[in-house]
Amino acid sequence: MKIQLPQKVDYIINQLMKHGFEAYAVGGCVRDSILGKEPEDWDITTSAKPEEVKKIFYRTIDTGILHGTVTVMLEKEGYEVTTYRIDGEYEDNRHPKAVEFTANLAEDLRRRDFTINAMAYNGKGGMVDIFGGLKDIEDGIIRCVGSARDRFDEDALRILRAIRFSAQLGFEIEKETLEAIKEKKEHLKNISAERIRVELNKLLLSDHPEKLFIAYETGITKVILPEFDIMMATGQYNHHHIYSVGVHTVKGIEAVGKTKDKSSAMEQWKELRLPRQFHEFQSKDKLILKWTLLLHDVEKPSCKFRGKDGEDHFYGHQEKGAQTAKNVLRRLKFDNETLDKVVRLVQWHDYDFSLTPAGMRKAINKIGEDIMELLFEVKRADVLAQNPDTWEDKLTSITKAETLFYEIHEKKECINLKMLAINGQDLISLGLQPGKKIGDILNKLLDCVLEKPEYNERKTLIDIAQKYLKDEC
Ligand code: ATP
Ligand code: MG
Repeated sequence: MKIQLPQKVDYIINQLMKHGFEAYAVGGCVRDSILGKEPEDWDITTSAKPEEVKKIFYRTIDTGILHGTVTVMLEKEGYEVTTYRIDGEYEDNRHPKAVEFTANLAEDLRRRDFTINAMAYNGKGGMVDIFGGLKDIEDGIIRCVGSARDRFDEDALRILRAIRFSAQLGFEIEKETLEAIKEKKEHLKNISAERIRVELNKLLLSDHPEKLFIAYETGITKVILPEFDIMMATGQYNHHHIYSVGVHTVKGIEAVGKTKDKSSAMEQWKELRLPRQFHEFQSKDKLILKWTLLLHDVEKPSCKFRGKDGEDHFYGHQEKGAQTAKNVLRRLKFDNETLDKVVRLVQWHDYDFSLTPAGMRKAINKIGEDIMELLFEVKRADVLAQNPDTWEDKLTSITKAETLFYEIHEKKECINLKMLAINGQDLISLGLQPGKKIGDILNKLLDCVLEKPEYNERKTLIDIAQKYLKDEC
């Protein structure tokens, strides 16, 4: 098996070897190369100690010197070079007390999580595959290096990483490894929210987010996302639905980004302006969309009741769900922008647009222009996870709403106070005292303009404001 190493990686490896050390590309980059995928980054492992690496290269950064990692800088690009190491005893199922350097590559590979991540390669020695990683890649299997139970005792994050890799690669988890996951899942309680968040994000953005079901079946979600278990246990007897809340949720996550190819009904709307493609969303927005789908119905279980019509209803689940979404995202230490947008999208995901220009302007004003495009995608994905018999009308009205939105956007029609042709200062110039009244009048003017955008002119608005003031006297 031959891998084409990037020139700079090859250069670093050769330099280290020239100085009498061993050096290999290792881990994820080897795995991805075998799979024919472009690796995100190239890690190098070497028998040279950090101080020795630093002597060989002109520019280096002490990235994690205590753990043996030095970043070698070549023309502004950084490559992590880590000394072969053995992890000492682990504390609290998360990190080793100390690391020890070794001159033996096999020992370094043995400390790695899965066989597919424990291969090393260089142009001279070829592939070093001690644990059968190549065969496991061929067979599509995630298997721990050595005893799965021991590996999960050492670092419980590996439990979640197993699911995440199986979702990214579409691989099955080997039996022993799966058994050990079930046995050791409680250890995930000892893992920091940040590390869990990283893995969950990768799982959600992967090609197989349905592996969330494996996380559920093995008991992982009960530890890190118990809200999901409650959704899985909640049926929805309603003609809009054919799945439980949990299954509907996963179908929604899957549908995000595939809303167009999934729906043949879309064909007939070719003459309408096509919605934005998922790949056009930035990666931050993709994550916002995936998390919104994961949490959009999170409070359906608590809002469920059987109506007189014999069907289940979930009144108020949007607002309550927004609050719970906020709690979940805070718990996982998300950044404010993601948190804010997901919470608002959960709150508005069921909003019924009134399909007139004025109705749409009012909706944009209420919801916020910044999340409108995301909301259309959320709504489509939500629909595509419902009963297919109900898709067509719902999808048609989403596209109509979206078309109206783009028209309003292109005409730059006023949809908030900031876009109003006059401001508080103008009202003060008319003789009004600064205070609450100014806000009231501006809001009244905005209501007018949302109804009739042609009124958004300075003179017209001043006339209307003066009329309001007169009427009130
Ligand atoms: P990704 O595509 O997400 O970067 P990766 O395999 O490169 O995947 P990293 O987290 O970047 O994953 O780690 C690089 C390598 O370090 C892994 O391939 C694996 O060999 C090793 N590794 C990372 N995390 C662990 C861990 N928790 N336990 C054991 N080995 C690990
Ligand atoms: Mg990596």
